[in-house]
Amino acid sequence: MIRPFVYQALPMRVVFGAGSLAKLPDEVEALGLARVLVLCSPEQEDTGRMVAAALGERAAGVLPEARMHVPVEVAARARDLARELGADGCVAVGGGSAVGLGKAIALEHGLPVIAVPTTYAGSEMTPVWGLTEGGQKRTGRDVRVLPRSVVYDPEMTVTLPAQMSATSGMNAVAHAVEGLYAPDATPIVSLMAEEGVRALAAALPRVVADGADLDARGEAQYGAWLCGAVLAATTMSLHHKLCHTLGGTLDLPHAQTHTVVLPHALAYNTPAAPEAVAALARALGGVPDPARELWELAGRLGAPRSLRELGMQEADIPRIAELAVANPYANPRPVTREGVEALLRAAWAGAPPPRSASTIPARPTE
Ligand code: NAD
Repeated sequence: MIRPFVYQALPMRVVFGAGSLAKLPDEVEALGLARVLVLCSPEQEDTGRMVAAALGERAAGVLPEARMHVPVEVAARARDLARELGADGCVAVGGGSAVGLGKAIALEHGLPVIAVPTTYAGSEMTPVWGLTEGGQKRTGRDVRVLPRSVVYDPEMTVTLPAQMSATSGMNAVAHAVEGLYAPDATPIVSLMAEEGVRALAAALPRVVADGADLDARGEAQYGAWLCGAVLAATTMSLHHKLCHTLGGTLDLPHAQTHTVVLPHALAYNTPAAPEAVAALARALGGVPDPARELWELAGRLGAPRSLRELGMQEADIPRIAELAVANPYANPRPVTREGVEALLRAAWAGAPPPRSASTIPARPTE
């Protein structure tokens, strides 16, 4: 039975495929932009300059200062530079940090953003912005920050190292997992989530084996697109709450933290989310226990599986558990202090997620 739902589509323009960076000048022109500021992180300055060169006259300059969680100082510098150069739009080249910087400028000045994603984080599909000031991250939703066009070119991802590809891909899978059991899940978004997980789970082992495999890179990016769209359309639950708390409080790395926490958060919610678990079981090739399979997959990809190896101290577990339960939020299973602490202890130690009594049979019946 299909339950009643409300679905609001977001505007989305996607140009997808190997070599599609060559279409970027057309995208800039179609938006009526004459001088765009290219944003990237310092590590990708060469890539940013290459993109600016491809834009020729239409590039106003390059700002290679994007950083994780968008510090307000960087956002202010980007805004001032955009004004100084007379920029009428931005092209954000990179992962969530570069896209986040573009969103900050769009939020304050309404400059349109075109995104050229080079990781699988998915920020380019969402109207969610974030800004960090004095160690505190503020976030919000505003459709004005949603990129007007997204150019997904798998060739732009071949330089993403194997380990970062694995964790960035698992970060994308996390969006889909939580979208499947979200309170505002809808049939169309669940289709995207299931297909996104299928594509990423199939592609990531091939990406890790050969980072230059464009076919695998394309499938991973296709999955990341779908998972990003899921993140935009649904309310995130325990997993994202825990990752934000760990990242914000202990400064743990974003994608790696998602990779470690995901199997444990899913195991916690498995008894309360049978339809989501059935969809994930299908997406992961008919496995009986999707949470365990995601933990195994992380191991096969050589990704981290413990919070300990990310630098977290065991003594921090109670504090994080306390913070994670402090404000109520959506979750299919009631979130208890004891439950979260047990989850964090397993994730900290790198133990496999506990098997649930209600994990579904290998071949789910509809
Ligand atoms: P990132 O953008 O910080 O990139 C990590 C590092 O990888 C950077 O040094 C970058 O230069 C490098 N890199 C990126 N692509 C590369 C490539 N192809 N080759 C070589 N190096 C490359 O990391 P991320 O995980 O993409 O983004 C994380 C940030 O995005 C966090 O701040 C997170 O909160 C935010 N985020 C926001 C949303 C949203 O909807 N607002 C969604 C997901 C993530």
